[in-house]
Amino acid sequence: MAFESLADKLQNVFKNLRGKGRLTEADVKTALKEVKMALLEADVSFKVVKQFISSVQERAVGQDVLTSLTPGQMVIKIVNEELVKLMGSETTEIALKPQNEITVIMMIGLQGAGKTTTTAKLAGKFKAKGRNPLLAACDIYRPAAIKQLQVNGEKVGVPVFSMGENNSPVNIAKAAVEHAKKEGCNLVFLDTAGRLQIDEAMMEELVQIKEAVHVDQTILVVDAMTGQDAVNVAGSFNDKIGVDGVILTKLDGDTRGGAALSIRSVTGRPILYVGMGEKLSDLEQFYPDRMASRILGMGDILSLIEKAEFEVSEEKAKEMSQKLRKAEFDFNDFLDQMNQIKKMGGMGSILNMMPGMSQLKGNVDIDEKSMDRVEAIILSMTKEERANPSILNPSRKQRIARGAGVEVAEVNRIVKQFEQSKKLMKQLPGMMGGRRKGGLGG
Ligand code: GDP
Repeated sequence: MAFESLADKLQNVFKNLRGKGRLTEADVKTALKEVKMALLEADVSFKVVKQFISSVQERAVGQDVLTSLTPGQMVIKIVNEELVKLMGSETTEIALKPQNEITVIMMIGLQGAGKTTTTAKLAGKFKAKGRNPLLAACDIYRPAAIKQLQVNGEKVGVPVFSMGENNSPVNIAKAAVEHAKKEGCNLVFLDTAGRLQIDEAMMEELVQIKEAVHVDQTILVVDAMTGQDAVNVAGSFNDKIGVDGVILTKLDGDTRGGAALSIRSVTGRPILYVGMGEKLSDLEQFYPDRMASRILGMGDILSLIEKAEFEVSEEKAKEMSQKLRKAEFDFNDFLDQMNQIKKMGGMGSILNMMPGMSQLKGNVDIDEKSMDRVEAIILSMTKEERANPSILNPSRKQRIARGAGVEVAEVNRIVKQFEQSKKLMKQLPGMMGGRRKGGLGG
């Protein structure tokens, strides 16, 4: 799968950061040097890498660390945000005209990039969305290209317009649009001819098609396996023909993935879809944020970081740590903390989002049930009792047990445990020490 080795390398870099309470400028520098190497090895273009690293560095050094994040997480967060930005931030949809007009999409790309396959995949997608597409066979050069389009068209249930191999691609394109009008099709895909390399005659033909019919969208198909070449090809096509969006194929293969990271920044054109296999259903919309978290190999740790940012206010965290230090933490605070965890989807979901932690989930489910019982017990107490459980007499404990649907022994156990941990907190005043402060850069 694409990005595997990049993800491995980045995870190693971050593993070293994660444990640290406070990062020095040197820590950040070393980490970013490794990130830089990893990106270059993944075939991301040098210029893009340089720009990327300097953006991350600028943001990482001297930035205040959110109380809810460790400095290591903070660096991951910044790297993630910059990756998303690099890939264009937003998901770009192919702009279509209203249903009662014909949208013409010209598909271009080098031979073997996956253009014909991708054209059929895309037509199938839009058909499923309620459009009425038509595939036009404008590749009259590659042996069997027309047949391939017909076979694929049939598989996705989209008709193919062809005039054989003895007509010019320009004429075929014009006739296809006329045919679409007659047949009530509102989306025409022109499957144009590619060459093995960028070549003048091919470019000229594409320019002529664009002059002859009104092309609404020009979509370039590039092969992710070709790495930097894919980016160069995209640049040439964009300069000569004008490209509205790019589809990156074969991202399921053993590609290093660099093309996905460079194309947007080098060409200024968005990646629209990615090809994830040879089957006609293997085409996925491109989400920069999801791709970034895949590249970082962080499971959903990033959404966890985001949640932490939203849900846990800094103030609350400070208040809580002070209470812990002074051993003033009581059942009311405990309830508060439980609510925070719940807001984040419960312990199970938190562990699920952390890479490598999902195996633990079996055990946590059990814990979560007992957490529910603990919560029921605490909720059955009055506010005063929560603040000072020593005022609980046997009859109150009975009532609480009944209210929570548990045995009174369990109430006793919870209260006792709580008193014990409070004692423990009092014995460890120095160890509950303050958390990090200051910037990442020291
Ligand atoms: P064209 O010359 O650009 O029209 O390329 P084709 O559509 O004929 O595709 C060339 C080869 O790449 C075919 O064997 C396709 O099945 C394969 N292919 C296309 N897209 C993908 C993809 O996303 N993943 C994989 N693994 N193979 C693909």
